[in-house]
Amino acid sequence: MNIVLMGLPGAGKGTQADKIVEKYDIPHISTGDMFRAAINNGTELGLEAKSYIDKGALVPDEVTIGIVRERLSQPDCDQGFLLDGFPRTIEQAEELDNILSALGKSVEHVVNIEVAKEELVKRLTGRRICKVCGSSYHLIFKPSKEEGICDKDGGELYQRADDNPETVNNRLEVNIKQSQPLLDFYKAKNVLTDINGQQDINLVFADVDALFKSSRN
Ligand code: AMP
Repeated sequence: MNIVLMGLPGAGKGTQADKIVEKYDIPHISTGDMFRAAINNGTELGLEAKSYIDKGALVPDEVTIGIVRERLSQPDCDQGFLLDGFPRTIEQAEELDNILSALGKSVEHVVNIEVAKEELVKRLTGRRICKVCGSSYHLIFKPSKEEGICDKDGGELYQRADDNPETVNNRLEVNIKQSQPLLDFYKAKNVLTDINGQQDINLVFADVDALFKSSRN
């Protein structure tokens, strides 16, 4: 199954990605993760990507499309793949179609996890991280036993600088502007399904799973 996963920051994309790749045994291809790994490994790609990522800009298409083309042609993608963070532009979406058609494949499902902006602001601004172990908590959805203190090691919990309300609002606006043309692109191709992300994690996955099952029959 060839899947593109979409959703705004805070929609629960990472959680659903983990569940999908586990159940369907397909590789999780996240361009953001690939760039971060390249940066950690100090490769040439990492050096180039870092300058853009640090500015909050998109890595140029030649670079991004190149690594996706390379990754999709590996044998573990034969039974399908889950793309996450790619495509982010119409040019990338068109190029993805070209890459896949050269491999005799196509995008079968674009899953868009939908959550209202107000809910996303609540989710993102409530996040708290342990200074010691990096564990993630949430003031409303996953509170620590004692406020401001990590359950695991007693470390102090802090709010990431980019999780403050103003930055979160900006991040969401930028993401909405970026993703809308892609949603329109895939809607026109009849491969887009909106999934209600404002329900229990397992119910979100049940909807995703039902979609995949129905298309296999
Ligand atoms: P992410 O973890 O998906 O938020 O990606 C982190 C950063 O990697 C982004 O802010 C971009 O700088 C870069 N990146 C990830 N995916 C892409 C993409 N498809 N096109 C261009 N840049 C990307």
